[in-house]
Amino acid sequence: MTQELLQGISRFRKEYFPRYREQYRRLVEEGQHPKTLFIGCADSRVVPDVITDAPPGELFVVRNVGNIVPPPKKEGGPHGVSAAIEYAVDILEVSEIVVCGHSHCGAVESLYHPPEGASENLRQWVELAGAARVEGEPVTPELLRRTERRSILLQLDRLMDFPNVRGRVEANQINLFGWHYLIEEGEVHIFDVERGEFVLQE
Ligand SMILES: [Zn+2]
Repeated sequence: MTQELLQGISRFRKEYFPRYREQYRRLVEEGQHPKTLFIGCADSRVVPDVITDAPPGELFVVRNVGNIVPPPKKEGGPHGVSAAIEYAVDILEVSEIVVCGHSHCGAVESLYHPPEGASENLRQWVELAGAARVEGEPVTPELLRRTERRSILLQLDRLMDFPNVRGRVEANQINLFGWHYLIEEGEVHIFDVERGEFVLQE
């Protein structure tokens, strides 16, 4: 265990937790009632609670390589991401789902340049975003940003393949949102359905 992590635990216990003690007590007594399922990338630079300044209990977070939503029915047994989505929707009854992609996403870049030594699991997983790949153009930073955004929209589409998500979206009980987080700018751009583009959240 690194010293940084151990010191972090001490700081959490002495400085952070006392500020939120009452809130944690309520979250235990009343249970969690997060309003938002947040599907983000496992990338260490993309921290949902920091980006949104959300207190404990606010976000139900699922992070994986490439903020990918797998097809609901996948051969080969139970699937952690699908189970988390279904838990958030059916049991916690969240009212919104955010799919948050980000700039400089290694998963998206690997759609063009698979990393040396990538395992079969990793290759197959990232390829779930394969439909976001743009063919026949030079791979520039601009193309990668565009692919990241295409992937976010692809994952939102795939959420609608979950019957329970689709049903609740159509009944106006759940709203879906696509976010693109720019690490270097600290900006979140949110997809505006009517304008058909991502718009900076001021
Ligand atoms: Zn990523």
